[in-house]
Amino acid sequence: MSRADRLLILGGTGEARELAAEATGAGIPTISSLAGRVRNPRLPVGEVRIGGFGGTEGLRSWCADNGIGVVVDATHPFAATITAHAVTATRALDLPLLALRRAAWTPGPDDRWTRVADIDAAAGAIGTSHPRVLLTTGRQDVGAFAGVDTAWFLIRVVDPPTAALPPHHEILRSRGPYELAGERQLLHDNRIDVLVTKNSGGALTHAKLDAARELGVEVIMVDRPAEPDGLDTVSDVADAMTWLRRKFPTPGPR
Ligand code: NAP
Repeated sequence: MSRADRLLILGGTGEARELAAEATGAGIPTISSLAGRVRNPRLPVGEVRIGGFGGTEGLRSWCADNGIGVVVDATHPFAATITAHAVTATRALDLPLLALRRAAWTPGPDDRWTRVADIDAAAGAIGTSHPRVLLTTGRQDVGAFAGVDTAWFLIRVVDPPTAALPPHHEILRSRGPYELAGERQLLHDNRIDVLVTKNSGGALTHAKLDAARELGVEVIMVDRPAEPDGLDTVSDVADAMTWLRRKFPTPGPR
């Protein structure tokens, strides 16, 4: 197999780690890329590079210089910039690109969701009646809530936020996955009125939504950004592997 037959997985998600394990196990030469946002990231198996590429042009030249033949964008559904860069860079190099995106969450009849278009709209949707808010949108989005002084925030993050913070808050450092019993306890003990979350999808952080439904807690749900037109997309690792096996057929006997 030539050097131009390597797979690049743009990662930073559980699905990306799963895919790296499966692809490596299937004998596909794989390199995973992480942005480097988290201090102690869970690393995928196999070769890993960490840090930005330097925009679209940086990604294009990195792929060309490193013999990348196929790209899977398995980044988080809200990581829209790297996805846009991947689309442009792979088109310039005429490389196949697949997006691996877990399905979005959808509300059931007993859910109390207010859906908003983006993080600023989520901050604007928090009422003025001094609600107690569980904020789970991630470290990078906390700054959008800095001006909300009519609520108390329990801010759950993996690493401490560096942006300005709302005046009334407590930081809770933790990393999922989360179970229903613990999420129920957290909402109950902190007398949470409102949960703010991005529509990340997936099972690992879904329990907060079940707990919110049980306790009648309102959910402010930030909708996903739009995907680029024409992006070939699958929603699970098995389908991504089916697509990859067509790109990397098992070599026959010599
Ligand atoms: P983003 O806004 O789409 O990308 C910002 C910049 O970060 C990109 O232009 C790129 O820098 C760099 N970057 C992003 N993902 C990269 C990757 N996998 N490998 C190398 N460079 C990458 O991304 P983001 O929302 O900040 O997310 C960063 C990472 O965290 C992603 O890998 C994503 O999967 C993960 N993540 C994000 C969220 C979220 O809510 N956004 C949640 C969980 C995990 P250059 O332009 O210099 O190449």
